Amino acid sequence: MMDQMDQSEREKIRRIVEEVLSRLECPAPPAQAGPEAGSKPEAAPPACPVSTPREGRGEGIPVEASARHVHLTREALALLFGPEASLGQRRPLSQPGEFLSDKKVTLAGPKGHIDHVAVLGPLRGAVQVELSLTDAKALGIDPPLRLSGDLRGAASVDIHGPRGSLKNQAAGIIAKRHLHLRPSDAARYHVRDREDLRVRVQTARPVIFDEVTVRVSEHFMPALHLDFDEANACMLQPGICAEILGSGCPSGDSTPSGAAPRSPEPGGGRRAPRGLITEKDAQRLVREGGETIDVPPGTIVTPAAKDVFLHARRQVKFGGDPESMLAAGER
Ligand SMILES: [Zn+2]
Repeated sequence: MMDQMDQSEREKIRRIVEEVLSRLECPAPPAQAGPEAGSKPEAAPPACPVSTPREGRGEGIPVEASARHVHLTREALALLFGPEASLGQRRPLSQPGEFLSDKKVTLAGPKGHIDHVAVLGPLRGAVQVELSLTDAKALGIDPPLRLSGDLRGAASVDIHGPRGSLKNQAAGIIAKRHLHLRPSDAARYHVRDREDLRVRVQTARPVIFDEVTVRVSEHFMPALHLDFDEANACMLQPGICAEILGSGCPSGDSTPSGAAPRSPEPGGGRRAPRGLITEKDAQRLVREGGETIDVPPGTIVTPAAKDVFLHARRQVKFGGDPESMLAAGER
C-alpha cells in the first residue's frame, strides 16, 4: 500500500502529523502560581501556570488567571500599614520583578466589601485596584475596562489597611485581557505591541477571546493574562495553553504600532495551494490579504485552518464555487 502512495499523499500525511503535533505542544507544568494562590479557598484561582521560556515553539502560550489585587504607592503603603512598612516578598510572579507581597487590604464600596485582597509588588507610581466584574458588582462600583496603568475614569473605591484607610481612591479598573510577549516572541508570532488578537483557550469549555491586547517588552515572559471571570468562563485548569488565531501582520510590516487591526485588502482573492491547507498555511494566506480564499478542487482544509479563515472573516471558495463557511454550516 505504502509503495503505491504517491508523493503528494505522503506529503499530506506528513503535514497533518506536523500540525497535530504542533497543536499538542504545551509548556511544562506550573512551577509557581499567579497573584492569588495564597488567598482564601473560595477565591482559589482556576490556574496560574507560570511561563518558562520555550524557544522556537509556535504554539502554546501559558494562560494565567489574575485574581483581584492592588498596587500601592510608597505613600499609600505608609498610610495603610504605617510609616515603617515595606512590601515583603511572599512569592515571585511570572513576570520578572513582580511579586505577591506579604500585605493584604480590604476593599469597600457602596454595596459591600472584600477582605484579604493581595497587594502586589513592587511599589508603583499610582494606586491601582484590579477587579473582575463580579468583584465590582459585589462592591457596587462600575470600573472601566482598562489596560494596567491606564486609570482614566477609574472607579472610586475605599482601601482599608491595619493602620489607616484611603477613601474614594479613583483606582478601580477591570483589567483588559492581554498577552505578554518578548520582542523575539512577537517576531515569531508576527504580531506587534498593542495589537489586538483573537486567542483560543482550549479547555473542556473552550473559549476564543477577541481583542486580546499584545504587550511587548524585553522584561516579559510569554503569558496570556485573564481575570477570574474570563478564567472561569473557559474553566481554566493548570497547564492549559493559549493559541493565537488570526495573527497580525508579517514581521517587518511598517504599519505604525497601535494601528487598527488590518482588514482584508479590498477586492483581492487568494489562491490556496492544492492538496492540503493546514492552520499555518491558512495564517499565511490570511496575512497575504484578499477577501476570498480560492481552494482548488479536492483540497483538504483542516478544521484549524477553517477556524483561521472564519475568524479572519475570509470567504472560502471551494473549486471556484463561492461558499461562505458560516452559511455552509462548517461550524
Ligand atoms: Zn499581565
